[in-house]
Amino acid sequence: MVDLKLYDSLSRSVRTFAKLGARPVGIYSCGPTVYARQHLGNMRPYVFADLLRRTLVSAGYAVKHVINITDVGHLTSDADEGGDKVELAAARANTSALEITEHYTALFKADLQRLGVAAPDVWAKASAHIPEQIAMIERLEAGGFCYRSADGVYFDTSRAPHYGELSGLRASLEHSRIGVDQAHKRHPSDFALWKFSSDEGPRRQLEWPSPWGRGFPGWHIECSAMASKYLGDQFEIHTGGVDHIAVHHSNEIVQAEHALAVRPWVKYWMHGAWLTMEGVKLAKSAGLAPNLDDLSALGVSATAFRYYLTTAHYRSPLDLSLEALRAAETGHQRMSHFVERHLQESNASTTPADDEWRRQFFAALYDDLDAPRALAVLWCILADSSLPPGARAQLIAELGAVLGLSWKSARAVHGDEQALKLLEDRQRARAERDFIKADQLRAELLERGFAIEDGPQGPSLRRAR
Ligand code: AMP
Ligand code: ZN
Repeated sequence: MVDLKLYDSLSRSVRTFAKLGARPVGIYSCGPTVYARQHLGNMRPYVFADLLRRTLVSAGYAVKHVINITDVGHLTSDADEGGDKVELAAARANTSALEITEHYTALFKADLQRLGVAAPDVWAKASAHIPEQIAMIERLEAGGFCYRSADGVYFDTSRAPHYGELSGLRASLEHSRIGVDQAHKRHPSDFALWKFSSDEGPRRQLEWPSPWGRGFPGWHIECSAMASKYLGDQFEIHTGGVDHIAVHHSNEIVQAEHALAVRPWVKYWMHGAWLTMEGVKLAKSAGLAPNLDDLSALGVSATAFRYYLTTAHYRSPLDLSLEALRAAETGHQRMSHFVERHLQESNASTTPADDEWRRQFFAALYDDLDAPRALAVLWCILADSSLPPGARAQLIAELGAVLGLSWKSARAVHGDEQALKLLEDRQRARAERDFIKADQLRAELLERGFAIEDGPQGPSLRRAR
């Protein structure tokens, strides 16, 4: 097996990857809460998980990937207070919780498809796994790791000496600074496993009977219960966003390790960094939540957005601006043009130089998924005039696929081979300083409905509006 290195948030170190046993490598990715349309920031963790999956496959591993859909139990506050996000959205829209969650789940899956994120082996919906969650809480209860209070059943973090090892926050001490009303908990870091339906106010749409009373599961228990159902009591990789470290994943670790009597439950914890705009995190709550449709209205394709995400390491925050997106669109188009133009000239023979480029590409990827470095190798290949263009196009297509990049969008954006040809003619005219001809070609393109944009990485076409 190849030497694949991954950063593990728990040990806070880059470690050589080793799988656990004969089963496929298990990856569990915390999924979205489907009460609203997912914004561009929400897409980033799944593009990162997709890159991880593709990298493992390219390294020769069989992989089983699970993504969950949170359709119940995610409250507006991480401190187990506030309303259920799905129930609140359903009330706001005056519709059923089921309608809300089905609508946004379908949009989420369609968005991932547009980004070239492969569907996971299992989509695990929280509301479809209530018995598994109850069974896990029962095991915790049997071990004396939880208690019942007026509004629910809580995990007792004072019984878990390792609590907080992921975040570095010690149980109770730092959590006591949350400063909210925690009357139902013995310790501020304790968390809800099961919440009772309230007898006051409107009746919940999502609730089930349980050994403790009518109610619904806490958000954290769903992930632990579904991960162990599909991936076993121990598995290799759990992914999420950096926001999951302090509470959600810290809670997942203690409840799973105590319910399943294993340690470690998960071998590698991996977390993706924020997507920001002018330094501010994209978030629905902040009203900063552009989605893929907003991008395409600006003339930026989903594939170009994926290309843009590939320009940053998954652990580095990435700032979004229209200028940067347009540069990514141009870069992606330039590479697409090259691949589309020369792919049919390629033949199957591989030269030693190809192998050197492959080596450099995978060295980058196996170094904790260094996608920007791997992408830079693709640009070096494009510029390597010692290789015939057909061989370069073939290599870029093959290695680009490992990054989840697709080269079809250029054609989709242009929709017209003739327009591509006119763009090339115009480039040639400009190179020959025949500016009159270049302007004529620009006008001809406009007539066909295409505008030319000259960016730092060369000219590209955009549908004129
Ligand atoms: P949520 O639906 O809020 O639970 O978020 C779903 C996923 O999107 C989680 O993994 C979050 O970590 C992630 N996420 C939310 N906002 C951003 C952002 N601005 N940048 C990157 N990831 C984000
Ligand atoms: Zn989760």
